Amino acid sequence: MTNLLVKARANKPLLWTVLALAGALAVALTTYVMAARKAGGDVGEASERQLQIIALDLESVLQKFETLPFALGFQSDVLQALAHPEDQLNIQRLNQTLQLIQRQSKVVAIYVLDRKGLTLASSNWDTPTSFVGRDFGFRPYFRDAMKGNAGSFYGIGNATNVPGYFIAQPIYASAAAHGENAALGVMAVKIDLTEFEHTWRSSEDPITLVDSSGVVFLSNRPDWKYHSLYPLNGTVQQDLTGTHQYADRPITPVSSLPKQQSAEFGQHVTRSVGRLGWQLMLFPSQARIARIAMLWTMAALLLLAIAGISLWALYQRRRRLEERLVSAEYLDRTIAQRTQELMVANQTLAAKYAKLQETEHLLRSTQNKLIQAGKLAMLGQMAAGIAHELNQPLAAIRAFADNAMTFLTRGQGDKASENLAHISNASARMGKIVGQLNGFSRKSHEAVAAIDLPKSIEAAALLLHNEFQTHGAKLEIDIRRTAQVVGDSVRTEQVLINLLRNALDAVDNAEQKTVSLVLDCEAGEAVIRIRDSGPGIPAQVALHLFEPFFTTKPSGKGLGLGLAISSSIVQAMNGRLTANNHSGGGAEFVLRIPLLETVET
Ligand code: ADP
Repeated sequence: MTNLLVKARANKPLLWTVLALAGALAVALTTYVMAARKAGGDVGEASERQLQIIALDLESVLQKFETLPFALGFQSDVLQALAHPEDQLNIQRLNQTLQLIQRQSKVVAIYVLDRKGLTLASSNWDTPTSFVGRDFGFRPYFRDAMKGNAGSFYGIGNATNVPGYFIAQPIYASAAAHGENAALGVMAVKIDLTEFEHTWRSSEDPITLVDSSGVVFLSNRPDWKYHSLYPLNGTVQQDLTGTHQYADRPITPVSSLPKQQSAEFGQHVTRSVGRLGWQLMLFPSQARIARIAMLWTMAALLLLAIAGISLWALYQRRRRLEERLVSAEYLDRTIAQRTQELMVANQTLAAKYAKLQETEHLLRSTQNKLIQAGKLAMLGQMAAGIAHELNQPLAAIRAFADNAMTFLTRGQGDKASENLAHISNASARMGKIVGQLNGFSRKSHEAVAAIDLPKSIEAAALLLHNEFQTHGAKLEIDIRRTAQVVGDSVRTEQVLINLLRNALDAVDNAEQKTVSLVLDCEAGEAVIRIRDSGPGIPAQVALHLFEPFFTTKPSGKGLGLGLAISSSIVQAMNGRLTANNHSGGGAEFVLRIPLLETVET
């Protein structure tokens, strides 16, 4: 499903591209066709106008010389020549006159034919291609003129091989005889029309002048010349041969020319010119029409491209906005979800915290109870020791008192006072022990104060002095630094007593019975190491060392509370109690309590 969606989305741009390309193609084609039609029309109109101008030009040239042969026909030399062709002097004079007129009027040639068509005099008498003596009786213009009409003809010169327009008029003996009697001869003028070809050359479009038979005889496309618009039939061919109009060249259709020469041959505008049924034709350049249409198409495509780019930019902008909107929505949703999650987590945490507080409270009360219970148990244990401790000085006091009494009865005052002094000492020692007990049994809640650790150590050692002695064990105390900590002095002593008594128990069966206590300071902490020469702590025991009621001692001797209580007391002072086996043998308990203030090292 998702895959399909992705695919559809991925295909969308492709579809759009194809559609856009198809649209652009359609627009291009439509524009091209329409522009081509319009350009065709415009070009057609322009061609018509151009054709009109050319035709007028041509017409005026043809007409300009229309009357020239007519006027020349009245020259007396001409009549003389026709009457006396053997009069060489006259002929010579006529030749020169004709030459002069020819040069002035800028025609190709002016010549006089007798009634058979033989040239009597000609303006080109002194050139190698002179007409003099030539017979033009076969030319239509001669025949027409002899019939009394104005003759005109276009053809390639028989003598010169140069094409030209021939105008001929009959010559009569006098103006009065004009049109009534038979003509005496013919006055002919040859005009050059190839000038027009030069003018037309500047035009891009093919321009042709076609005779009544459909043969192209003037054109700015040299290849087309002396080719017909359509295949000529036999009669026409014969006519052409008869008049030698195009110097007997074989006339083939333009369409038979190689493709590149006849490519422009096709649509055209036409206009008839002159009196010989000529057609002036102009073939509007299809290439130009195509060019104009192409320009329009390109302009349309450019506009389309601009529109397309604008649309694309708009689309992109909209998409970006949409994306931003979507991502904003997504963000909102995510934030809401996270907030919800956080709230739930917060509630859970609050519940857990409450539970924790409850547990902590329980722990504290349990701890207090444990401390109290542990202390009581220890008191019980200590009772025997204390009784023993007090018993000894008490027995001594009694002995000293008995002695003092005896000495007093004997009157030995000195000796009596000596014994009394002993009594005083013994009772002082007892007072000291009792004082310690007092401090121990006091329930100390608010007794948090600065404690001198050396003093606590001394007090604990004093309390255990007797026990160590009884067991024949040695207690070595090494105070390397004085240290003050914050806490409860009684509890601190309780911890030390616990540890020392455990050490004493541990060395009880050992060969060497030594317990050492070292006080030092390390990194802002007071460190007390209590090491014994006992067997150390077995791994099995180490696991449960600080658990309440864990003991390896026979019942009645240990309750298993000592280390548990000690540890909790130390923790209450922000310190910690750890145990390990010393590499040199025996167990080592390490007590670390933060110093009240760092002692100088
Ligand atoms: P109790 O001394 O009443 O047994 P404690 O909590 O003080 O209770 O001690 C727990 C146990 O830890 C002892 O029973 C003993 O097995 C072990 N222990 C304590 N101190 C030492 C020590 N210095 N050497 C070896 N074992 C010890």
